[in-house]
Amino acid sequence: MESNKNYQVLLYYNYVHIEDPEGFAAEHLQFCKDLDLKGRILVAKEGINGTVSGTIEQTQKYMDAMHNDPRFADMVFKVDAHDGHAFKKMHVRPRKELVTLRLEDDVNPHETTGKYLDPKEFFEAMQDENTVVLDARNDYEYDLGHFRGAVRPDIKTFRDLPEWVRENKELLEGKKVLTYCTGGIRCEKFSGWLVKEGFEDVGQLHGGIVTYGKDPEVQGDLWDGQLYVFDERIAVPVNQKEHVVVGVDYFDGQPCERYINCANPECNKQILCSEENEHKYLRGCTHNCRVSPRNMYVKEHNLSAEEVEERLALLGESMKQEA
Ligand SMILES: [Zn+2]
Repeated sequence: MESNKNYQVLLYYNYVHIEDPEGFAAEHLQFCKDLDLKGRILVAKEGINGTVSGTIEQTQKYMDAMHNDPRFADMVFKVDAHDGHAFKKMHVRPRKELVTLRLEDDVNPHETTGKYLDPKEFFEAMQDENTVVLDARNDYEYDLGHFRGAVRPDIKTFRDLPEWVRENKELLEGKKVLTYCTGGIRCEKFSGWLVKEGFEDVGQLHGGIVTYGKDPEVQGDLWDGQLYVFDERIAVPVNQKEHVVVGVDYFDGQPCERYINCANPECNKQILCSEENEHKYLRGCTHNCRVSPRNMYVKEHNLSAEEVEERLALLGESMKQEA
């Protein structure tokens, strides 16, 4: 399999002033298209945040060109080998913020941010008794994999995190607070916000989980499950020493690391689900989603009304059942 990996996926960000995000985005999109890259890049006055895929040659050209721009000269690229593109299209979008926290009082990571910990430092700090490790990602990311013992904020989007902290203050008070996220960009702001909020000992995993998993010394140690990524791969390994599955199937609670989207396009909820249960439940997260006239599973498999009824009967349900 290794021999097929002549593509790469890049993950990167840089908090740096970009004068005209709209103009930059339009130009950058053309530049990426000329290189045949695919991916998703956000541009704001406060900087850039991107993930793109391409051949080794294409992605190398991109990194070289970016490093030649003084604004991005020291930008760190996290590079994963892959066997093809990890995206279908190329988007570059101007945004108000790189990560949506919508703080009443914005945080500039160049002025206020948590202490940067490299993987080894984070690994050691994590094992201190007085430490609370706080996952700065969304619940569905945590559910696929996380640091052993990390706190799971019960939030659907990043912007709900500050409110969650205020409501759960007693968990963190008087403790050393460590935060981590995929590549580090969310923690730059979030850990800064924690400092502003009055927490005195705040550390962030520099380079994020991606860097932690590649570190030759720690090798992803103390990470359980897999890392959720925002491209077609969805799940990537982190811990090179052992693999403990923490994800559980939405329907039967069995160990599972396979994310799918509910077949009802109006729902589209992301659930961990085995192949077997996907067929059994018509890829619907609820009865309503299973019997939705727009159920994509039913369409993709050309199931007749009788066949749908047969499957539903095995679940003790029926098309005629009241919602
Ligand atoms: Zn659903």
